[in-house]
This record gives sequence, structure tokens and C-alpha cells, in this order.
Amino acid sequence: LPSQAQVVIAGGGAIGCSVAYHLAKFGWTDVVLLEQGRLSCGTTWHAAGCCAMLVEGIVRTMFEYSKQLYPKLEAETGIDTGWQQTGSIYVARTEDRMIAYRRHADAIRAMGVECELVSPRDISVYHPLLRVDDLKGALWVPGDGVATPADVTQALAKGAAMKGVQIHEKVGVEKVLTVSGRVNAVRTNKGDIRCDHFVNCTGQWAWELGQQSSPSVRVPLHSCEHFYIITDPVAGANTATTPVAQDPDGYNYMREWNGGFICGGFEPTPKPVFTDGIPSPFEFQLLEEDWDHFQPVLEQILLRMPALKEVKVQKFLNGPESFTPDLFPNMGQAPELPGYFVAAGMNSGGIASAGGVGKVMAEWIISGDPPAGTWPVDIRRFGEMHNNRRYLRERVKEILPMPYAQPYPKPEFQSARKMRMSPLYTTLEKAGAVFGVKMGYERANWFSKPESGEARLTQGTYGKPPWFNAVQEEYMACRQNVAIMDMSSFTKFEVRSSGDEVVTYLQRLCCNEVDVPVGTVLHTGMLNHYGGYENDCSLARLAENLYLIISPSNQMVRSWEWLHRHLPKEGTVQIRDITPYYAAINVLGPRSRELMAELTDAVTMSSQYFPSFTCRELSIGFAPRIRAMSLSHSGELGWMLYVPQEYALHVYDHIMHKGRDFGIRNVGYYTIAHLRMERAFAFWGIDLDASVTPFECQREHRVKFGKGVDFIGRSALLKQKQEGVRQKFVMFLLDNHDLDNDLWPWGGEPIWEGGRVVGRTTSAGYGYTLKKQVCLGFVHNPDPQTGEHQIITNNFITKSKFEIQIAGKKFSAAARLFPPQI
Ligand SMILES: Cc1cc2nc3c(=O)[nH]c(=O)nc-3n(C[C@H](O)[C@H](O)[C@H](O)COP(=O)(O)OP(=O)(O)OC[C@H]3O[C@@H](n4cnc5c(N)ncnc54)[C@H](O)[C@@H]3O)c2cc1C
Repeated sequence: LPSQAQVVIAGGGAIGCSVAYHLAKFGWTDVVLLEQGRLSCGTTWHAAGCCAMLVEGIVRTMFEYSKQLYPKLEAETGIDTGWQQTGSIYVARTEDRMIAYRRHADAIRAMGVECELVSPRDISVYHPLLRVDDLKGALWVPGDGVATPADVTQALAKGAAMKGVQIHEKVGVEKVLTVSGRVNAVRTNKGDIRCDHFVNCTGQWAWELGQQSSPSVRVPLHSCEHFYIITDPVAGANTATTPVAQDPDGYNYMREWNGGFICGGFEPTPKPVFTDGIPSPFEFQLLEEDWDHFQPVLEQILLRMPALKEVKVQKFLNGPESFTPDLFPNMGQAPELPGYFVAAGMNSGGIASAGGVGKVMAEWIISGDPPAGTWPVDIRRFGEMHNNRRYLRERVKEILPMPYAQPYPKPEFQSARKMRMSPLYTTLEKAGAVFGVKMGYERANWFSKPESGEARLTQGTYGKPPWFNAVQEEYMACRQNVAIMDMSSFTKFEVRSSGDEVVTYLQRLCCNEVDVPVGTVLHTGMLNHYGGYENDCSLARLAENLYLIISPSNQMVRSWEWLHRHLPKEGTVQIRDITPYYAAINVLGPRSRELMAELTDAVTMSSQYFPSFTCRELSIGFAPRIRAMSLSHSGELGWMLYVPQEYALHVYDHIMHKGRDFGIRNVGYYTIAHLRMERAFAFWGIDLDASVTPFECQREHRVKFGKGVDFIGRSALLKQKQEGVRQKFVMFLLDNHDLDNDLWPWGGEPIWEGGRVVGRTTSAGYGYTLKKQVCLGFVHNPDPQTGEHQIITNNFITKSKFEIQIAGKKFSAAARLFPPQI
């Protein structure tokens, strides 16, 4: 083994080999790949090799890239990857499935992927072996295909080796060694290798290997048994032309293999395995046959392709595959340990996407920054609680069937719930709260009246939702009266120093001015070097050298990591995560000031004493030292109350008691979403990510150019200020949308202008005041020849005619850079 390398990769499956190949392709050739067994001996060798997935966003981008790469690898390496562009056909048994396909077709066409919605009769043209009389139609994707997983892996490995990567089989990584809190070396069964970067590509072993470093690294994934059968040849099956068939309503798929078929599925009741560890060795190994378990899938396979009833099964295959808590892969740099990267947990899409995963990982490792659009796969979206084995075992039972579940809007996981809860949880539950979950935290989405039965309507819908009236009432309380909302899931950090070091530190991190009078609250971005939002938070100066930072719930790990990454080396600034110690209660609405005056023993709650965007300590009821900030996150008059957990119930009860005379009512996150959309407030993780700058979302007023402070992202913003922006955050109000009969926008819809797609919506919801569907999203102006995004002027936004496409139907949409007064 070499004694040192720039990068050491553990795992010689499709993913590890692709990372190695792409690092070398981009010029990093001082790379060593270690495989404990033989290349592809883990999960890769027995994959079915379908390159056909109903995915969007970054996973789609990685998948599309892989489909381009596999056919080219033979010319480069001499190894045939088995790639056949057969196309794939996704059939629909229900009208809702067809709607899902229409929405999906809109989304992938906007990314340049060719596809077509076809009638049941036309399905037979593409795939004569399928039964079609019970179908509503299908989605045909001609660019999809199949590959041979072990050959893809060998080709990537050879391509990497040809560029200088060293590949060693039968070498297992035992431990990752650290010095001064970053990766320094790996310990293997054959000696140590010093390295700057380590990449954990060990598939289902990645959780366990993550524990073998100090600090340990979380890799939330868990194995499940995964099944298919291989049949004898079937007349009419053809390697080059028979498409991959997928029948999600019958949870099964079929691909041609040696004249017969590989038929598998994503069954509704999966079997997690290896909770207490993977047996060793586990090399080119399978799990026991379980015909009883496979029976429901098999019935559906035979129903869809009756010709299979006439042929024998050659082989029953049961192999383990690893699944993550949300069906997105774990990728990127571990927040616990600089230099430690992860690409593991491919949710049964690791062959279809290996090429793209390797490319994105190589870009990430080389630049040190996450490539654009990678937040959905970024490992920082998970926290400590997501790495718990029992949690993972429960959750993956829900994840495995998800590729074939109906993708209704606003999905919520049902499994492994009630993990993080506010002290108000039980009280809100009794009040009718219908909970969702964010970062493992239970949060009220809306409140149902038990007698209405709305909450029992669990069937999803693409149109007007069952909670429409309930949310309207909540919304009206916020707009006309007063409401209360539990926002305890917010991430809360105290940042302090003994001298004024904390001010210097935060001035460098924040694009807004933070050297403000004690008692001031402000909104600010924390930007990266490209000027993009790493974090979007509220900040309160509690004392000269003490700040409270409030970040979105899903920023718990990411913002913690960002803040720590930039701490002064001298240790002069301290950060304390106080999220678990404080509940957050929002009192909002036009009468909130009046109510607040009743609640506290403050002399007055007048706007002179307690103006907007300030904070004070108040007592509420008997509870002392409540940190009150005069703001809401939806633009209403309001107060955020940060309450020590032990007082939370008392404070809540007191507010409800005094609020009764005001007609106070509980409201949930759906209401906040509707309020903020009508005000065109962009939310981090939904509308904003690390690729959006303040200038692109009309937030110039939160950038402190005038002060000469060299905050991170300043030079990128100065350049952008001179040149102009290439994307703009725009609000759209839909015309002629029938609330009751049309399908609704839910986010992700293509935005059309002049016969071309110029963007996608990021948020959508009904504007209860504007009485129109409201969509928010980013607009580009691609050059017709090159496709390059051109500078966007305000004129382009206000003068162009836009349309929003919902499941194939276009609605004209009035564009606004700033929201109307409501
Ligand atoms: C039945 C079945 C059907 C499937 N069908 C498809 C399909 O049709 N299409 C698709 O896209 N995907 C499919 N998949 C999923 C696909 O197989 C996986 O997503 C993919 O193989 C994952 O690749 P990987 O490199 O992450 O993991 P692996 O292939 O498991 O590679 C990890 C490697 O790491 C090695 N390793 C572990 N620990 C260490 C260590 N400490 N040191 C060194 N090496 C170590 C292991 O030996 C292993 O070789 C299927 C999976 C199954 C089970």
C-alpha cells in the first residue's frame, strides 16, 4: 500500500469506483481505492441494472448524466457496461397516477428530458407483453435503459486506474484517524495510509464505518432485504428493444435479461435486516429466499405480464440494499469531521445514478463546496437522532416502498414519529393539531375540528385539499385578530465572547449589519464566497457581547457546522446550542399588541416602548425572563417568545386564558406558509439555498456594503451589483384558475415565457386575501442559442407574459417583483 495519498476511498462498488473515476478525470489522480473484498462484491453485483427512475431535481441530474456516461465507457476502457437504451414505460392503473405522471413529465421536460404520455393502446406498441386493459395510460421515457452493474463498476475502476488511481482489493478500512479535528489517515488491515480526504463509499457498511473515527461520523442508513426473480426466456423479449416496465400501483418492475426477465418490486411491507451488524465476511453473498414475502409482488407481476405464467423461475434473489430516512442519498462532507466525505445509501438507485453521484462527489471534494442544488442529498440535513439504529429500522420500512407510492403533495412520514416534541405537544394534540415533522420535530401543520372528520381524510389529493377551510379560519385569525403558534422546533444558538470578538466574528459571517444597539433584532443571511445563502436567520443582540441566532429548523446541523467552521482559532467566541432548552411561541395578528399588554407586567406594550424588531425580557403570567422579540415570520404584527421549557405550558395556558376574550386560536405551519407566500417571503430550504444571493431575491437592503466590513460573499455581491443578476425571485398570481375544479400548483411547476421554460416554482399556495393561487419561483432568461443564463432586468419580469404549467395545463400568470399590499 502507498504510505500516503491525497484521497482514500473505501468501497469498491459502483459508487466508490465512480468517485475514483471522476476525481481522476478532473485531475486528482493521487487517489487510492480500498475494497475489503473484490470490486462490486457488496450490493452492486446483484443489482437488476434498471436505469429508469421517477426522480427529479439533483437526483435526476445525476441519473441523466449516468445515462450519458455508461455508453461512452466502452470506447474509453474497452469494457462494455451492458448499456442498452431500451426506454422505459411507467404504467398507471389510476387517474391519480396519471396526474402524477403529467406533473413528472412537466418537471423532467423542463430539465430537457424527452418523454411522452401515452394511451393504454399505445403501451402495446412499446411493450407488447404487457396487459393493458386495466390501465389508464403510461409515461414513456425513451432515453432510459439498462446496464450490467458489475460491468459498469469494472469499467469505472479501469477508467480510474488508467488515469493513475491505485485500486487495492482485499484491503479493509478499519478506522479513520484524525489530527486536530480533521482527517489525517486511514488504518487498514494492511497498514496506515496518510491522506487529506477520506470518502466513505461502503454502502450498507457506511453506518458502521462512520462509527470508527473520533469524532464518529453519522451515516444514517439501514439495510433492507430486496428481492427479484429471474425467469426463463419469454417469446417476444428482446435485449435491445424491450423497455424496462414499471407498474408502481402493483409495486413491480420487469427488465429483459438473457431473453427472460428480471422481475422485482418495492413491496409495501419491507423487511429491514442487519440492525445489529452485518455478518463478516459478506462478499458476493445473498440472503435467504422468502417466497411468502415475495408472493404479493409476484401476483402483480403475473397480472401485468401474463406470458410469465408460462415460464419457469430460474433464480430467486434476495440481496441487501441500504435505505436512508428520506429516500435521498447521503452525500457530501460530514459536519463532524472536516475532510471526511460520504456517498452511501442509494435507496436502490445506485446503478442508475452512480455516474452522476461520482461526478458530483468529485466536484464537492475538489472545490470543498457543495455543487448547486445538492441540499436535498447533503448529509447535513440529518442530525444525531436520525442515526439511531432503532429509528432507522422503523423508518426504512416506510422508505423502501416510496419509489412506487403516490407522490401526493405535502407528504409526511408516518413512521418513527414522536421523537422530538415540544412541551406543548399533548396540549396541541388535544386541540386538534394535525402534526407534520421537520428535522425529527413534531410540528402542528393545521388544526382540525374533531367533529369535522377533515383530519381523517388521509387520502392525498392534487387539487383542493381537505384542510382548505380549516386553514382559512386560522389564516383569518392571523389577519384580523390574534393567533398563537408553537415554533419550538427553530434552531437556537447563543453566541458570546468576553470582549467584542463576537461582534467581529458575526460581522464577518453576516451580510447585514450586526453591530446594532443592544435589544435590536434583525434578519440576515450568512453567505458563502459566491454570495449564496448558507443560512438565513434572525439575530438578536441580547447584550454587548451576546447574540441569539434563530435559524430554520432544518438548519440545525448545517448552520452549526458553518458557525463552527469560522470560529476564531484563539477560542475567543463560544457557541451554545440552546434549542433543547427553549420553546418558541409566536403570538401574531393585528390584536397581538393588545393581548401582549394583558399578558405581561411590562409598564406598557406601546410601539414606543416595544417597537418592531426589538427584544426585551418580560415575565408572562408567573414565568420570569421570557425573551420576547417583536416580529413574526409571516409579516404580521407579532411577538416571538423564547420560553425556558419548564415554563412553556404555563405561558401557553396563560396566553390562551387571556386570549379567550380576543378570540385567540391555534394556528399551524400551513397558515404561516400561506401568509408568507402572499408577502413573497422566501424561506431557506424551500426557496433559498446556497446558490441564491440576496440580490436575486430582492434583499439588497440586508447587505451592508456601506460599512466597509469584509463579510464573506462581499466581493461576489459587489461584482453582481455591477453586472446584474442572472436569476430573479418572482411572485406569480395565476389567472383563471378554478379553485375547486383545477389541479393546484404545489411547487416545482415549470414557468413558461415565450414558448420556453424559464424557471420552476419553489413554493405555491392559495392566497386567501388575494383570492388567487400564488406561486413563488426563480426566473432565468436563457440565451436561445447557447442556453446560457443572461442578465435579467426588472423590465423582463414586468413586461413578459408568463405561464405556469400544472400537470400539463398552462395558466397565465401575472409576475411581480414585489408583493401587492395585503
Ligand atoms: C435486489 C436488488 C436490485 C437492485 N436493482 C437496482 C436497479 O435495478 N437499479 C439501480 O440503480 N439500483 C439497483 N439496486 C441498488 C444498487 O445495487 C445499489 O444502490 C448500489 O449497488 C450501491 O452501490 P454502492 O457502491 O453504494 O454499495 P456496494 O456495492 O455495497 O459497495 C460498497 C463496498 O464497500 C465495501 N466495503 C465495506 N466496508 C468496507 C471497508 N471498511 N473497507 C473497504 N471496503 C469496504 C464492500 O465490500 C462493498 O463492495 C438494487 C439492489 C438490490 C439489492
